[in-house]
Amino acid sequence: MNAPAPLLPRLPAVRGEIKADVPLKDTTWFKVGGAAEVLFQPADADDLAQFFRRLPAEIPATILGLGSNVIVRDGGIEGVVVRLGPLFRSIKVEEEIITVGAATVDSQVARQAMTNGLAGLEFLSGIPGSIGGGLRMNAGAYGSEFKDVVIDALVVERLGKVRTITNAELGFAYRHCGVPDDWVFLSARLKGKIGDKAEITAKMQEISKARTATQPVNTYTGGSTFANPDGKKAWELIEAAGCRGLKQGAAEVSEQHCNFLINTGKATAADLETLGETVRSKVKEKAGVDLQWEIRRYGKPA
Ligand SMILES: Cc1cc2nc3c(=O)[nH]c(=O)nc-3n(C[C@H](O)[C@H](O)[C@H](O)COP(=O)(O)OP(=O)(O)OC[C@H]3O[C@@H](n4cnc5c(N)ncnc54)[C@H](O)[C@@H]3O)c2cc1C
Repeated sequence: MNAPAPLLPRLPAVRGEIKADVPLKDTTWFKVGGAAEVLFQPADADDLAQFFRRLPAEIPATILGLGSNVIVRDGGIEGVVVRLGPLFRSIKVEEEIITVGAATVDSQVARQAMTNGLAGLEFLSGIPGSIGGGLRMNAGAYGSEFKDVVIDALVVERLGKVRTITNAELGFAYRHCGVPDDWVFLSARLKGKIGDKAEITAKMQEISKARTATQPVNTYTGGSTFANPDGKKAWELIEAAGCRGLKQGAAEVSEQHCNFLINTGKATAADLETLGETVRSKVKEKAGVDLQWEIRRYGKPA
């Protein structure tokens, strides 16, 4: 059988950076996984929109942000992986509204809000992702989530149409956003409220302290592995099923926070995923609950 034709020469021309066979391992927090068949970093919104318009429908597009909530499988990701580069990092404050580029790091937005005396965005300091990833995941912490602060978001649909989507149209739910997975967020408008700088700073310090005390933040991890089922805490179910500290190869269920998986150094994506599935089946056996992955998994096995 003939090998499939390389993808890159079949793709539309772009102004941004586009390359074949790009390792993704170091772009994710877990530090595992294979390569992108093609990685595209658009020059600007128009570059991405034009590319999508001309990209044949059968070629899949996967979006990556800062990789703090994903496992890229060991065999890599087929099709095009889109990653927004530094040109999509921006923060503009006008009264109580902050307009942010989708590649902007959440904690920088929290800091900028604090500098401008805007309250309500402190929770962003505790989420190590980008604004794009936060919109997709409706990320949240310490009593707030994206849903509470987003006014609207600018998006490129898979067919290349650029449009603004309101908070209601985004279909936010717990760690979920209702727009299709292959739409790319470009920017968002967030709403803060005038507050007291000292109070905002104190809240951010509290969040930072709580995070260091409860989460394995200085390890190769991906945040909470499973979503909390209705009325229950995933970590309590995992604990009760005896999974704290469980190992698979070099992957481990964190001793510190048992809803976190950790790559202790040489784990593969398969180790992490197998361990996650073992946890799921032990919880099912013990409590009869089907845990759902919160971490997004992309690509194919080795
Ligand atoms: C130590 C640690 C602590 C964490 N704590 C929290 C927490 O308290 N609360 C919480 O909610 N999460 C937490 N997380 C998970 C993670 O940080 C969030 O989900 C974050 O919002 C993911 O953003 P990202 O840029 O890293 O996205 P990625 O991990 O790269 O991607 C996540 C999803 O977003 C999509 N995506 C990324 N960028 C875009 C874009 N521009 N347009 C469209 N889709 C996009 C991807 O396709 C993927 O489906 C934690 C993770 C770690 C490692």
